[in-house]
Amino acid sequence: MKNIAVFPGSFDPVTRGHESIIRRALLLFDKIIIAVGDNPEKRAYFPFEKRMHWLDQLFGKEKKIEVRKYSGLTVDFCKAVNANFILRGLRTSADFEFERTIGQVNKVLDNRIETIFLLTVPEYTALSSSVVREIIINGGDPGKFVPDCIDLGGKK
Ligand code: ADP
Repeated sequence: MKNIAVFPGSFDPVTRGHESIIRRALLLFDKIIIAVGDNPEKRAYFPFEKRMHWLDQLFGKEKKIEVRKYSGLTVDFCKAVNANFILRGLRTSADFEFERTIGQVNKVLDNRIETIFLLTVPEYTALSSSVVREIIINGGDPGKFVPDCIDLGGKK
């Protein structure tokens, strides 16, 4: 059986923190499906198409990575794409508390799917998409926090 992981998130926008987790996880899985949430109730700052486009730019050449749209329950998406793992990053104890609840609920919803956590590397512990958005909204340069190949429309 192949080990397929879903890495779900908003990626609003993708950051070097996301990139680091995904590249490190490539050693663990046969395939990683980056699942980009498109949920009208959770309004994103960047349009869905842009968030997908940046991930395609970043990982388009990587054979083991697919970028897909998703909505609804993560475990249902996992079933639909035959994934047996959910991948998440952990930065802080606050992340842990949040992820523990979701991970345990997902385990009850589908016992066959395991959630795997990778600790962030220290240099990206303070990094989040919301930090990047805050910098952009206030006219700053988010370049150090966003992968080099990503063009945030002149904002980087
Ligand atoms: P969500 O809205 O589901 O939290 P995000 O796009 O913010 O979506 O994050 C997706 C995943 O990436 C989460 O597991 C999050 O913990 C992880 N992540 C985000 N930023 C970092 C970072 N700087 N270092 C490690 N993991 C990160």
